Order: sequence, then structure tokens, then C-alpha cells
Amino acid sequence: MRRTLTALASATLLATGLASTAAADPPHNPGGPCIQDQQDVSLESVAGYADVVRELARIERTSGGLVTVDSAGQSGEGRELLYATVGSGPTTFWLQARIHGNELHSTEAALQILDLLASGSPAARTIRDNLTVIVIPMYNPDGAEANIRQSTTPSVIDLNRDWENFAQPESVAFWRLWRDTAPELALDLHHMGEAPVVDGTDDLNQFQIGARSIDPSRMTDEQWLTNRQMAMVSVEALDRYGPVNVAHYPLIDITNAALSRMLMGGTAPAGEQAVTEPPTRGAIFYEVRSVGQKSNGQLENLFRIPTMAVLLAAANGSLGSQDVSGYPDLPFASQGPCGM
Ligand SMILES: [Zn+2]
Repeated sequence: MRRTLTALASATLLATGLASTAAADPPHNPGGPCIQDQQDVSLESVAGYADVVRELARIERTSGGLVTVDSAGQSGEGRELLYATVGSGPTTFWLQARIHGNELHSTEAALQILDLLASGSPAARTIRDNLTVIVIPMYNPDGAEANIRQSTTPSVIDLNRDWENFAQPESVAFWRLWRDTAPELALDLHHMGEAPVVDGTDDLNQFQIGARSIDPSRMTDEQWLTNRQMAMVSVEALDRYGPVNVAHYPLIDITNAALSRMLMGGTAPAGEQAVTEPPTRGAIFYEVRSVGQKSNGQLENLFRIPTMAVLLAAANGSLGSQDVSGYPDLPFASQGPCGM
């Protein structure tokens, strides 16, 4: 009962927040829904490892041969590192989710995207004809089951800081898959904090675009251009979708992140040769706000809609002519209190 009341209150806050934003009314903190103090975040409505196993099997079985599911290896606790392949086009596109185990909704979004890619829609056909899409719905199944950011076994570390040391079996397995499939484009799905605010406004920031996990000086000119093109396709798709305030992710320079090393090459697990000519010419990430188990549908939309737009643009060739002049004008955001 208590939860129901909280949910109702949150729904009201959401409606109020959106209305205030639209009317540019007096300053306010972003509306909810928000995670309440003392709230028990229920994971029942969030895709877990067993859901990934079951859903991938279902999609493969019903896809009429369009989707195949394989394992890249095993996690520290022995779970299969499952990925799906769909499409037969010459350009390989890498889509990964949940490298951080407690970033909940990217897994469900990745499964929805895979379902769409296996469908009979014209967009899905275009994507399958022109791309080979690798979909990794749960990069970190041990962390997901423990609902923590990191791996669990043998070490508790951030897997998105392990593409230099390769201390964890997940990193080794997915590095090998990256080397063997040689993706030209990569997209990594994340969640950020609960309630950032767009700088200079009172607007709740629901989505941040990460076009640079490393400083652009570490990229080729082509990589930096492609990253911004992928970013602006994503931003424009969200603009068409509606009530989303987009901001830049902070300007980081993290060389041991998975995407960073896809762009830079130069590292390899023990016993492997480093890749000196990286195949990846574009690799970006999304950060969607976190609100526990609430607003699942909207959070999944915020992953799915821009991802499908980038896939389609890569498939139909429009990505290469995407205008990036609006990129420097995207605002930044700062963390703020939620729902007050
Ligand atoms: Zn993350």
C-alpha cells in the first residue's frame, strides 16, 4: 500500500514537473519520479541474467534464422557472456549494455532493440542488409545479479576501466570478440545520476551524450568526426521524440575504458597481440538518468530511440553526411536534488 501511494505521488510529481518546464514557470528543482529515502528498489521488473538467457533464446528461436546467439566466454562466477548477432551487412556495429551491473534499464532496451532488428519493418531490413549488429545485453552479469557497478570475481573492479590491465575474464572475452568481429562503430549504454539539471536552466536533464570517452587529441580526425556524427544523430532523434533535455557528458579522458581502447588500440590481454590499427572509427556512449525501478518504459525509450536512429543512419549511409555544427552548442549539466 505504501508503495502504491509513493508511486501515485511520483506520478503527480512527474506531471507537475513537465508542465512547469513547458510553461517556463518559476524556478523549481526537477520533478520526479525519484528514488525515495528508505526505498527498496525492486529488481523484479528489471531484466536479470535469467531474463537475458530466456529472451535471447526466444528471439533466436522465433527469428527464422535472422538472429544467432553465442557466448564470448564466461564471467568470473561462470555465467555465459551472451551476445546476439543480427544482419549480414559489411559494416559491423557493436552495441553493449550493462557493463556497470547496477545500471538497470539498458539490458531491457538492448533486448527490445534486438527484437526490432529481427522484425519485418523496413528499417530493420535496411539495417540487416547493411550492418552486422553485435548486441551484448549484459556485459557484466555477475555485477548485474549482485546489483553493483563492478565485477565480483575474482576481483571487484570497474570493468569499464579494465581494457589496459585485463584483470577480469569479462574484459578478456569481450576484447577477443571485438578483435575478431572488428566493429567499425560502437555504442555503450549507461545510466547516470538521478536528477542532473541542464546548466543555466531549471530543466531536468534526462539524457547525456558521451561523444568522447578520451580527449579528441587521442583520436584520428575521422574518429572524432564520426563520434560527433553519431552523437548528433542521437540528439536529433531525441528532439523528434519529445520532452527530453539533452546535455553533454562531462569531458573525460579515460584511456582504459572499453570504448576508448576500441578507438586507440594498443593494449591486449596476456598472450594476445595488441591491435595496432583499430577497426573502430566511431564509439560513443549514452547516459540515461536513474530512477530505480520507476519509469521503466520512458527510460528504455531514451536508450532505444537514439540507438535505432544511429543504426539506421549507419545502415542507409546518412551518418556520413550528418551535420555536426550543433555539437558545440549542446549544454552541460550539474547534479541537482530530485523532486523537490
Ligand atoms: Zn555506467
